[in-house]
Amino acid sequence: MITQQIILTSRPRGVPTLDNFAFERVLLPDMHQDEVLLQGLYYSVDPYMRGRMNDRKSYVAPFVVGQPMEGGVVAKVLDSKSDNFKPGDLVTAGLPWRVLNIVPSIWLQKIDITHVPASYYLGILGMPGLTAYIGLLDIGKPKAGETVVVSAAAGAVGIIVGQIAKIQGCRVIGIAGSDEKSRLLKEEFGFDEAVNYKSTSNLKAVISHLCPGGVDVYFDNVGGEISDAVIRNINFDARIPLCGQISIYNSSEYPRGPRLQPMLLSRSALMQGFIVSNYQFRYPEAIQQLNQWLNDGLLKYTETIVHGFDQLPNALLGLFKGDNTGKMIVEA
Ligand code: NAP
Repeated sequence: MITQQIILTSRPRGVPTLDNFAFERVLLPDMHQDEVLLQGLYYSVDPYMRGRMNDRKSYVAPFVVGQPMEGGVVAKVLDSKSDNFKPGDLVTAGLPWRVLNIVPSIWLQKIDITHVPASYYLGILGMPGLTAYIGLLDIGKPKAGETVVVSAAAGAVGIIVGQIAKIQGCRVIGIAGSDEKSRLLKEEFGFDEAVNYKSTSNLKAVISHLCPGGVDVYFDNVGGEISDAVIRNINFDARIPLCGQISIYNSSEYPRGPRLQPMLLSRSALMQGFIVSNYQFRYPEAIQQLNQWLNDGLLKYTETIVHGFDQLPNALLGLFKGDNTGKMIVEA
């Protein structure tokens, strides 16, 4: 059986381009016992994939030049040699970027779409939702009445972080890259304030104005100058879950910035990096609670859906231009 795949052809220097990818036709192997044939329905593109395009040691292995890209996928079982899966079942798995895949059934998790669309399992009920829940509650430890600031606030993780902070009784300020995103955060997602960092010349002063008592929790999705501006406004005993640094994922030079340690020291602040996959023991509670909040209408969710398997590279590059509101998904 022949299918189409998207491979990494070269490692980007700086911002990736479409030239770093190629489309290929490939012959799938025969299906063996305990394997299934899958058709990809929804593909996740995520900022961490940029790191995997480099040949650098990290918490996850680099993509291999000449081999398919891979990531989270919601797929339909077309054929099965496993007792646990039958044609028509919907599953999630980390899969190569192929239209069809034959994989061992132990890679797969069945999903239930009675109450939510299938694509939610790549977002609010998947890795980004878990990241928001665990990063904010386990590291940020927000308390009612505190002030929480979140960057990339209109993205997959940030939009959930802000809403969970509201559920905890906090005052929430989002930082995002357009007036329209800022409007949505306030009018649709219940943020108290939102700032368009692209039209703000002095973000430090704006955050100081919006947070007169200081920032108690800063959920850092972006790093760079945005985070420098927020961290200069932290309160005593502030907590800073270090979730992402997207503003520097495309930098070839090691970034220089202000030395923030004196601020952390003098405010007795905690800054802690975390990788969500190290917190699998927290997944059952997080998924149960996220489902509950969704069902109760306390959490709203949004996605940017790009259509066509061939749009996967474009959608991935779009994350670095702010093309998405909520989770960026490609529907095949
Ligand atoms: P996302 O926020 O849905 O998409 C990325 C967003 O980042 C874009 O929409 C854009 O929004 C913003 N952005 C892009 N380039 C930027 C820049 N130079 N400066 C400031 N903002 C920029 O992505 P996500 O999946 O939710 O991930 C958010 C962050 O969390 C990423 O840094 C990711 O690596 C990290 N993450 C970490 C973990 C973990 O385990 N630690 C897990 C998941 C995600 P604007 O329009 O606002 O610029």
